[in-house]
Amino acid sequence: MLKLIGISKSYQNVEILKDINISFREKEFVAILGPSGSGKSTLLNVLSAIEIPDKGKMLLGNIDIFKLKKHKQDYYRANYINYIFQNYNLIKYLSVKDNLLISSNIKGNKKINFKIILKKLNVENLIKKKANKLSGGEEQRVAIARSLVGDIKILLADEPTGALDSNNSHKVMKVLKDISKDKLVVMVTHNKNLAYRYASRIIKIKDGKIIYDSNPNDCGNNLHYLIRKTKLSFYNIVKMTYNNLSSKKMRTYLISMAFSIGLIS
Ligand code: ADP
Repeated sequence: MLKLIGISKSYQNVEILKDINISFREKEFVAILGPSGSGKSTLLNVLSAIEIPDKGKMLLGNIDIFKLKKHKQDYYRANYINYIFQNYNLIKYLSVKDNLLISSNIKGNKKINFKIILKKLNVENLIKKKANKLSGGEEQRVAIARSLVGDIKILLADEPTGALDSNNSHKVMKVLKDISKDKLVVMVTHNKNLAYRYASRIIKIKDGKIIYDSNPNDCGNNLHYLIRKTKLSFYNIVKMTYNNLSSKKMRTYLISMAFSIGLIS
C-alpha cells in the first residue's frame, strides 16, 4: 500500500534517516523498535508527510506523495492518516466528544457513535469532560479513541502505551491489533514484550538504518488510491473559535480593550 524508497532525512547536517526502504501491506500491524534517538518518530512523521525527506520517494499506490503540492499532502493526511501522537495533541479547550467530532469532520465522516468508540478504551464516562481536565493516561486513551474515528486506512501510533499501566496497555494493544485486521497500523514503541506479543511484523531501526525486518513485503503496489479534498465545516470553525475565546475570557477581553484603545487613539 505504502512504499518508502531510499528515504534520507537530516537535521542540522546530522543524518537521522539513512536510505530507508520499506513496503507496507494494506493490512498489518507493524511495530518499530529501536533505541531512543534512532529516528523512529521521524520515520512516522515522514509516513504522514509531516516531515518531507531530503531524498527518496513515498508511494501510495502509484501516487508519489512528496511530489504533491502542500495542500494535497494535507488532503493525503486527512484522507488516509490517523495519528496517535506521543503528546496526544488533543484540543485542550474542547470536550472529549468535540475532539472526536472535529476529527470526524476533518475526515469527512458525518455520523459516528462516540459511545461505542470511547467504550472500547474504557473512557465513555469522560465524554463531556474538557480535555484539559484529563489525567495523562485518560488523555492517551482519548487520543487513541479519536484516532479510531472515520474509515481511515493508516493508523500511526507513537508510543501509544507510554503513559499507561499494564492492564490498559494490553487493552490498547488489543484494540490496535483488531484495527490491523483491515487497516495498516504502524506503531513505534520501546516495549519489546508488547510488540512481539501483538504485532505481525517487527522492524528494528538503529542510527537511522533498518537493521531487521521480520516480515518484509515483496508484493507489488498496484492498487489505485484517490486523494479527495476535505475541509472543516463552517459550523465547526465557529464552534472552535467560540470555545477558544470563551476558555480564555481575560485574554480576549484585554486584546479587545487594547485593540479599541489603539483604534480610538
Ligand atoms: P526516536 O523517536 O527514535 O527517539 P526521533 O526520530 O524523535 O528519535 O529523533 C531522532 C533524532 O533527530 C534525535 O537526535 C532528535 O533530537 C533529532 N530531531 C528530531 N526532530 C528534529 C527536529 N525537528 N529538528 C532537529 N532535530 C530533530
